[in-house]
Amino acid sequence: MAETAKILCPDKKVLIPDLNAGCSLADECPEDDFKRFINQNPDHYVISYINCSAAVKAQSDLICTSSNAVDLVKQIPKNVPIIFAPDKNLGRWVEKESGRSMKLWPGSCSVHETFSEEAVIKMKIKYPESEIIAHPECTEVLLNHADFIGSTSKLLNHVQRSSAREFIVLTEPGIIHQMELIEPSKDYFDVPGIDGCSCNECPYMRLNTIEKVICSLESLSPELELEKEISLKALKPIQRMLEMSK
Ligand code: SF4
Repeated sequence: MAETAKILCPDKKVLIPDLNAGCSLADECPEDDFKRFINQNPDHYVISYINCSAAVKAQSDLICTSSNAVDLVKQIPKNVPIIFAPDKNLGRWVEKESGRSMKLWPGSCSVHETFSEEAVIKMKIKYPESEIIAHPECTEVLLNHADFIGSTSKLLNHVQRSSAREFIVLTEPGIIHQMELIEPSKDYFDVPGIDGCSCNECPYMRLNTIEKVICSLESLSPELELEKEISLKALKPIQRMLEMSK
């Protein structure tokens, strides 16, 4: 996210309160391996989910978000083969929704892979009136249980519009705080990880504490720097996404 802000606004200062606050999904798609993958499939149009590194964006034709991925894939002519990276779970869901078959990079988010199907079933038994809502980065087996699947913004809109009063939330549980703010009269339940652990919480996001944000604002550091060449190349597929999303 910080890299995308810097790519879009190269003249502005972008601070990262903790430089280790990366993303497991981005880490699972190393630049050189991705280059090899593209070279092995030279005639493919490359679509990358925004949760990837600037170097991977720079090798892509189009960037998408979980909100616009289905719509963008549908806009690519049917005779053009597509590579979709780096999230295979999101890619599989997009395939289903768009009716397109794509070559998927085999990456995933370690947080969304952690949710336990058994725990979801037990919670549904405990709260039978609840709706199960899920982010498409979840595995297919979990998405099959969901009443509603959508991006972060779509999940937030959904809890406001839905007639349900209770929700079992299958995504990073930090979203529950926002749900409670926008729709405080409803109840939200997060799902524990496999073996009841709390690894459903993103360890990377949790590194950005309020203390580090204050410290970063006071010292105006650490500042994110990007190679100019990568930044310029990565800007094109982001601009293409913005144009195609109008
Ligand atoms: S939850 Fe964490 S690891 Fe997963 S995609 Fe988001 S930032 Fe990356």
